[in-house]
Amino acid sequence: MSSSIKALHKKLINKEVSCVDLVQEKLDQLKSSDYNTDNYILNDYAINLAKKVDTKIANGETINLLEGIPFGVKDVYLLQGTYSSASSDFLKKYKSPYTATAIQKLLDAGAIPIVKENCDSFGHGSSSENTVFGAVKNALDPSKVAGGSSGGSAVNVAKNFTTFSIGGDTGGSIRQPAGYNNVYGLKPTYGKISRFGLMAYASSTDCVGPIAQSLEDTQIVLNTMAGKDYRDQTSFSSEPVSDESITSALAKGTKIGYYKNFIESEAISPEIKAGFENMIAKLKAEGMEIIPLDFFDANMLVSTYYALAMAETASNLARLDGTNYGVRETGKDLKEGYSITRSENFTAETKRRIVGGNQVLSQGHSEEIYNKAQQLRQQISHHFDEDFKKVAIVLSPVTPNPVPKIGNNLKDPMTMYLSDAYTVGFSLGGLPTLTAPLAMETGVQITAAKKQEAILFTCANFLKQVL
Ligand code: GLN
Repeated sequence: MSSSIKALHKKLINKEVSCVDLVQEKLDQLKSSDYNTDNYILNDYAINLAKKVDTKIANGETINLLEGIPFGVKDVYLLQGTYSSASSDFLKKYKSPYTATAIQKLLDAGAIPIVKENCDSFGHGSSSENTVFGAVKNALDPSKVAGGSSGGSAVNVAKNFTTFSIGGDTGGSIRQPAGYNNVYGLKPTYGKISRFGLMAYASSTDCVGPIAQSLEDTQIVLNTMAGKDYRDQTSFSSEPVSDESITSALAKGTKIGYYKNFIESEAISPEIKAGFENMIAKLKAEGMEIIPLDFFDANMLVSTYYALAMAETASNLARLDGTNYGVRETGKDLKEGYSITRSENFTAETKRRIVGGNQVLSQGHSEEIYNKAQQLRQQISHHFDEDFKKVAIVLSPVTPNPVPKIGNNLKDPMTMYLSDAYTVGFSLGGLPTLTAPLAMETGVQITAAKKQEAILFTCANFLKQVL
């Protein structure tokens, strides 16, 4: 599918539709939907912005490509004056005092936020069931999960309730729900988009990224949000991804790698395995050089990721004690007030992670767990450095298994953690990685070396043509 943004832009400037009507239609769809994708619908906020766009068009002024385009925002981003709950009871009444840089850049380009989207609370989850707003339903089969944590965002895009949405990806939260709902989702190189105004989960892997129906829209939104921001010291300036990189094909003989153990693992479902092998065979037939690579075992990747992610989230969420943000429960003294506030307002999954994270960091354990996980992370990064000397791209499934039914994940957190086996490694490496809704039920994950986003788009475009 080609660019919905460009198609809508054309309609707006040709006055085939007014911006108010366009935005109102989406707001109505969100209101009448029962997919549980919205935490807050930004009715007046969006309509006010849409009116301004209509005035400009009526006055014959030129409008930007993104001007008037309705989009969704995962409810972990701050948008000044609107509620930002992270899908938690804790922040259900919390109003953002300022706007996240990435979202501000979209606002500056004229795009219109219409909804704060349901997700796993604080990004903790792989199914968007860990939320106080009700489990998000899959766009293709509502008895199945939406994926997570950016489930509401992926479903909104898939159902066309938003033209694009902004997710957050710490260990797979854009790529996996994108795959589960058959849309594109990009986790850029760590630091390519400022995290300022994104509620921190695991700061060392948190990334901002777009979810969209086409490669073109993914590129437009990525280029708009990218760039250095003095308020996020990890951010850097970068060249935009060119139009050419989306329309060109991979050169014959391009070296494409895959991790043997991902595909040979006993945990992979036969359908996903067959889809992957079929894709590799087609790429070989197109003259690509396929290189099988060795990699760390999935259990090791998941353990390393969760040790670090839990440690970081325990630290980041320590600021939520009822003093400065969100709800405040009272106890007989200050300390009891903190514990009641935290016990009553975090979900069970979030508490599991805070307890786990504090264990990882506690005296007597931190050398054994936290320091060891940091060492393993170094080794993983080093492994990637070596791999990307041999290949230009690594392909992998997004998940080992097809989309689960709603309810299954809640029974066993360990199964849920293991479902992240194919996404978390690339997060630990800070690499750019794109889900394209191709080849397998949950999509294909295309990964490259740091800052090589352009080749992800070229590869996805090529796969689209040949599969
Ligand atoms: N499922 C992973 C986790 O729960 C990733 C979540 C995310 O990327 N926010 O940690």
